[in-house]
Amino acid sequence: MKRLSVLGSTGSVGEQTLAVAAAHPDRYAVAALAAGRRIAKLAEQVRAFRPAVVSVADGLGADELRERLGGDAPEILHGDAGLEAVATADADLVVAALVGAIGLAPTLAAIRAGRDVALANKEVMVMAGALVRREVAARGTTLLPVDSEHSAIFQALAGESQGAVAKLILTASGGPFRTWSAERIAKATVEEALNHPNWDMGPKITIDSASLMNKGLEVIEARWLFDVPPERVEVVVHPQSIIHSLVEFRDTSVMAQLGLPDMRVPIAVALAHPERLPLDVPRLDLAAIGRLDFETPDTKRFPCLQLAYDALGAHEAAPAVLNAANEVTVAAFLDGGMSFDRIAGVNADVLDRFTARGTDAALRDLDDVMEADAWARACARERLSAERGCA
Ligand code: MG
Repeated sequence: MKRLSVLGSTGSVGEQTLAVAAAHPDRYAVAALAAGRRIAKLAEQVRAFRPAVVSVADGLGADELRERLGGDAPEILHGDAGLEAVATADADLVVAALVGAIGLAPTLAAIRAGRDVALANKEVMVMAGALVRREVAARGTTLLPVDSEHSAIFQALAGESQGAVAKLILTASGGPFRTWSAERIAKATVEEALNHPNWDMGPKITIDSASLMNKGLEVIEARWLFDVPPERVEVVVHPQSIIHSLVEFRDTSVMAQLGLPDMRVPIAVALAHPERLPLDVPRLDLAAIGRLDFETPDTKRFPCLQLAYDALGAHEAAPAVLNAANEVTVAAFLDGGMSFDRIAGVNADVLDRFTARGTDAALRDLDDVMEADAWARACARERLSAERGCA
């Protein structure tokens, strides 16, 4: 029996994790759950899975959960201390499925407590990849990727030695502007940017897919998850999203992982490792798909992808700076009144200013990461307000 702690249990990945666990009650038990403000959904999960510890965003939510569960409630905590308690609860695997910077501290706490981690929270490796790698090595724990591209690479690497790897190849759908000219992309509206061809996702990640920033963040994630230098992490555009990523070995053999896009598959790979679970999901029919296409990504039309490589070539905190600047610029674009090409323009400007400060000290701890994050947010806001003529 594998005991799971799930950080972000009421989000998309959290819910699908519990669905996979529920389909295999002989294999999985739930030790602890953390959610934000979806208290009704969390109460259902607590009744179904009987965790010993639960955490929510704030005290108000904790009171509501107690009321809903009555005398049958587990230990209910809230805030940062609650997240840390769930991350370090008595479990075999912590599923890190929070979204954004809030997941970094509890994920580090889980690793420091010696827990294996199934990682869906991409910002953990983007913001603090170097630091997380050092902690994982020091504690001897295992990081299992849940992002579909990184799960594909993880599967392609099974049984191979690090020295045999020539390069990692991440696939990208190309987003809604794949065939657009630079001039047309620059003037794209919010509606056009939100119109993703293959996936229905949250607005932030959909805009990141349109700018290819999402793929850039995944390049950073791959560099740290698999300890491969950035010049050996490549991106290929593959509009059908059937090949989830590939690994080329030094003998020129290329291993790919294919499947219909369904997050339950990479979740099950991480939960069951090193075994495989039977899954009741649609199967790939290659003849029905007919053909698979590939293109070289164009970093002239999609400069955000190049910025990720620039950040990896700079200071260890530079990816955290790029991530934070991008969160600010994407939010401003979604608010309206800003052209699409300013996302890349301001991101580049903030990254340049950070690099020009000329520090080369390694990331020592979470405080260093959060300091870089806060600096970048302030700098991006300043650039945006100057742009709008109000500063
Ligand atoms: Mg992905």
